[in-house]
Amino acid sequence: MKSPEKMGTIQIEVTNSCLRNCSNCTRFCGLHEKHFMMNMEQFKKAVDSLAGYDGIVGVMGGEPTLNPDFPEMIRYLHKARPSGKKSAFPVAPVRDFDRFLKDRWNNAVGAKRGLWSTFGKKYYENLEAIADIFPYQCLNDHQNASMHQALLIPRKELGIGDEEWIKLRDKCWIQNEWSASITPKGAFFCEVAAALDMLFDGPGGWPVEPGWWKRKPEDFGDQLKWCEYCSAALDVPRISGDKECDMVSAGIWEKIKERNAWKVRNNRCTVFDASGYDPEKYKYDYTNEPYLPNQDIRISKDTCMRFLYPRDIAVVLKNGAALPQGEKFHQISEEDAAGLDFSDWLLVIDGDISDITAEFLEHAVFNPGVLYFAGRGRLIFINKRASALAQCKKLPLELDLLTKLYPGAKRYNWKNHLTPDSILFSEKIAALKRHIQDCWRYRSGLLLKKLGLKK
Ligand code: SF4
Ligand code: SF4
Repeated sequence: MKSPEKMGTIQIEVTNSCLRNCSNCTRFCGLHEKHFMMNMEQFKKAVDSLAGYDGIVGVMGGEPTLNPDFPEMIRYLHKARPSGKKSAFPVAPVRDFDRFLKDRWNNAVGAKRGLWSTFGKKYYENLEAIADIFPYQCLNDHQNASMHQALLIPRKELGIGDEEWIKLRDKCWIQNEWSASITPKGAFFCEVAAALDMLFDGPGGWPVEPGWWKRKPEDFGDQLKWCEYCSAALDVPRISGDKECDMVSAGIWEKIKERNAWKVRNNRCTVFDASGYDPEKYKYDYTNEPYLPNQDIRISKDTCMRFLYPRDIAVVLKNGAALPQGEKFHQISEEDAAGLDFSDWLLVIDGDISDITAEFLEHAVFNPGVLYFAGRGRLIFINKRASALAQCKKLPLELDLLTKLYPGAKRYNWKNHLTPDSILFSEKIAALKRHIQDCWRYRSGLLLKKLGLKK
């Protein structure tokens, strides 16, 4: 076991409400009758208690963006914890978000703030602030196959004796590789223990006070009793996360079977037959195949389509411009645009733009906080939720007036044109750079092996 101080991340759990009910979820989504929402005061206390902690403070759920105070919470986190790597959401549109995620947001080195999310409407709505605040993001749409280990098969029901159990428990891969966490009920040495305390209405965790995270394993005390409910440290079956089914022991089933919870109501729980339990059957090497296999940390193209690409594009046409062809475009008047009477993105076209641009606007990820423009204002593309427009009562539709509203770092001049060729070109250059870096890493690895400095 590890002291939270030595962990790379400590999570603040702002809700256990989620958009999904993945199999064997570590927050037991689908088994709760009620959901919690951390309040602002609890969140501040949690952040303040972690002053001096060197790793990432994660905002997690469930789906954390569902907490109604999420925007205020993440602003507070940023203010209280301003150091570390800066966020890296480019102002340029991102055509290949999946690639971008792997290159930029999946790199935890030097980050002090992190977000764990499964997307959704609220993620989309808060994208500008999320992009400003979180240099590390673990985004997972959970729509790919990934083997989630059963967590609710206690060792006693499998006949594992005390001596063997203590050794297994102390090597628990989740506690050693993942995080400690804070819920509205206190601070915990392990994120799953924190979730078990919620699931079974436990006594709560340690007081959320400065330095709680410096406790060592010998100080974990009573909290270790949650391990007695948990099978993370054992060899037990796994189910693909996207099946939305849990496997639980007979004893746990007795405890939850009367619950008015989604997985119980919908027959999504299977009781594990512990007779003749043979751990060898369930051996699983997480070093070769992690809990979340490679495809699982990616998001599917479908997710991008539904959640991150512009959802609605209101268009103002000037000087004979034609309405772009595409399902998201619809024309509005200059008066409606000036009155901010549109729901999502606004495109102002002065003159002609090609169909390629229209296709591009529908299928790239844009930062809603950025003013995108091209051809000295022949094309303007902005989002109603931009923080730059928060105080704006009457939206100017001319580029020189708009640029006064947006800070320099949030303006993107789509140089040369109304087509995205220049962006596609820069994506190719970025891919080439990545390839050269990968080759360099591979070759230097070989060299180190040859010199006997690496196994
Ligand atoms: S996305 Fe899935 S695994 Fe993550 S909290 Fe929600 S239900 Fe659990
Ligand atoms: S056995 Fe469960 S509760 Fe105990 S440390 Fe491991 S994951 Fe946490």
